[in-house]
Amino acid sequence: MGTERNSEISRRKFLAWTLCLIINPDLRTPAGIEYSKLVEKSGNFEKDRVYTLLSEIPVMPTEYVLPAGRVMDISEGELVSAFKDLVTTTDTNLYSSSDGMDSSSYFVSHQVNLDPKLYGGKLHFGEDMVTTDEHKKNTIFCNPIRARLVGRVDIRRLSPGTGIFRAIDKYGQDLDVNLGEKKCGVFMLYGHLVQLKNSQQVGTNVEVKAPIGDITSDSQIGASSGPHCHVEMKLIPVERLNGEKSIQQILLEDEYGGVDKNITVDTTFIWKFLPGDLRAKIGIAPEVFEYTKSILSKRRHYGA
Ligand SMILES: [Zn+2]
Repeated sequence: MGTERNSEISRRKFLAWTLCLIINPDLRTPAGIEYSKLVEKSGNFEKDRVYTLLSEIPVMPTEYVLPAGRVMDISEGELVSAFKDLVTTTDTNLYSSSDGMDSSSYFVSHQVNLDPKLYGGKLHFGEDMVTTDEHKKNTIFCNPIRARLVGRVDIRRLSPGTGIFRAIDKYGQDLDVNLGEKKCGVFMLYGHLVQLKNSQQVGTNVEVKAPIGDITSDSQIGASSGPHCHVEMKLIPVERLNGEKSIQQILLEDEYGGVDKNITVDTTFIWKFLPGDLRAKIGIAPEVFEYTKSILSKRRHYGA
């Protein structure tokens, strides 16, 4: 693709983005709710349900096979109390058209599977979210939790520029959670997104429902079978966040170097409390393509 075409696309995206903010000011205003309030309202609270925390990341991404690594379990009750100051969205509409006129909810097409010994199958560290609408050009994924953009990182299985966000609490401070003996910072990775031009700068707070990336570029982003957003949560012990290494370095070392000091968490406990959680009604969508219908990316993926 020529440079001229690229700059034309950038220009169009910028105009669409500007229009989007003018038409739909909701996209730039905070519209969140305290996590504990969301839990209170949901009726989905399973205090004793056990989630796995994983802190031994195998070398990725040759094959998603996990030799070992379950280090501790934690109950939903404990997680909810650790995340009580988190601010999250008040509804399930995590996707929006770039003009801000339409929004849509999500399906989970591939769930977290941190321990194949328990659940079988391939290892997958995050949840893949696809829009409930048919695939449309310029569909954007909106930030589900209050967070600060701290950078982008090149993790091959996710994209050339996965967005990294640090969760911030209702006071605007970094959210630190206690898991057993460890105090950890909470980081969200949003993969397979094309960066929105002229959107957030690194270091800025990104409120709930702010658009954070395009899922429907013609480019095939990362190891993806179709347009979707991969959401992954990493907890990084605060002693590693001492400024010696950037967050990008820490994540890349863990990903490709077999370093093992971070903790990967099943994010289900957050999404299940969103009002009207679709998974509660329809289960998990089996295939991205059935919902996204991206012929272009399908061709690219299968070479057809
Ligand atoms: Zn994924």
